[in-house]
Amino acid sequence: MSKVHFDTIALIGIGLIGSSLARVIKREGLADKIVISTRSESTLARARELGLGDSYTLDTAEAAKGADLVIVSVPVGSSGEVARQIAGSLKPGAIVTDVGSTKSSVIAQMQPELPANVHFIPGHPLAGTEYSGPDAGFADLFINRWCILTPLQGTDPDAIVRLTRFWEVCGSRLDTMDPVHHDRVLAIVSHLPHLIAYNIVGTASDLEEVTNSEVIKYSASGFRDFTRLAASDPTMWRDVCLHNKDAILEMLSRFSEDLASLQRSVRWGDGDALFDLFTRTRAVRRGIIDAGQEVDAPDFGRQKAAVPPK
Ligand code: NAP
Repeated sequence: MSKVHFDTIALIGIGLIGSSLARVIKREGLADKIVISTRSESTLARARELGLGDSYTLDTAEAAKGADLVIVSVPVGSSGEVARQIAGSLKPGAIVTDVGSTKSSVIAQMQPELPANVHFIPGHPLAGTEYSGPDAGFADLFINRWCILTPLQGTDPDAIVRLTRFWEVCGSRLDTMDPVHHDRVLAIVSHLPHLIAYNIVGTASDLEEVTNSEVIKYSASGFRDFTRLAASDPTMWRDVCLHNKDAILEMLSRFSEDLASLQRSVRWGDGDALFDLFTRTRAVRRGIIDAGQEVDAPDFGRQKAAVPPK
């Protein structure tokens, strides 16, 4: 794989994704200089303490000045605001990309703000955890994870190749996709599961005849796996829901229909239908393991530690 190198990379937003990028950029020597910018003084100070970059500023426009790669890693609802802030200081020929979980909305927000002499290539690494902030990041986050680029028509192919190489050096596998298709795919593989998790955890915590302590005590019987998703960052997920509304509503409506059918099977004791569905879904997990996107270990691949009762 040919090595790619940038003089200066500006990271706008230094949470889980931005700080993971900072760490891998440093480790792989992908840039001579990393400039970090974020919204709050406290996050910037923490990034400095962690030594994530070479220079630090609260001034987003200042951060973008002179950078040949600018990576915007902020909640998708803030993409337009950031694009407006950096537009005037971007170097001609710079690559501007993002990592947002929705693509059509990010493009609609950013593209009109950015000058025609930069290469805007929207992107989305399908890698994450339920943690956020600069402490949460780690250099190996992107290894063997897909990164989807949704380049716009007419984008310079050389710029796409450079960004592709960048993500490959970070450990990612690359795909390109139409942004609308990306949003539909992500609605089913990511956004719907998170909404279901938020909903089920909300339902359990509202149940009056089951106490909270019972929910927590017996959580390992299934509930616990939903709580990991439901612990994801509220700002990020609020923005995902607001910015991928149509695709999410479509998937939610399909899900509700299927749930009603499952409910009918349970009500009428249709064991064959239940068995068929559960057999089909087990095969899906097998497929994910075979594709290298999950390890074949019990309990979603986490270390099994016997946690002593408190
Ligand atoms: P995060 O850990 O919460 O970090 C967000 C960062 O954005 C923080 O540094 C925050 O700054 C900064 N920020 C927020 N609004 C800003 C603004 N208006 N101007 C400048 N900086 C701003 O979030 P994350 O998990 O890294 O997510 C970042 C993006 O990656 C989101 O678009 C998300 O959809 C996408 N993504 C997330 C995951 C995941 O699993 N988490 C996976 C793939 C993609 P302050 O702390 O200073 O306020």
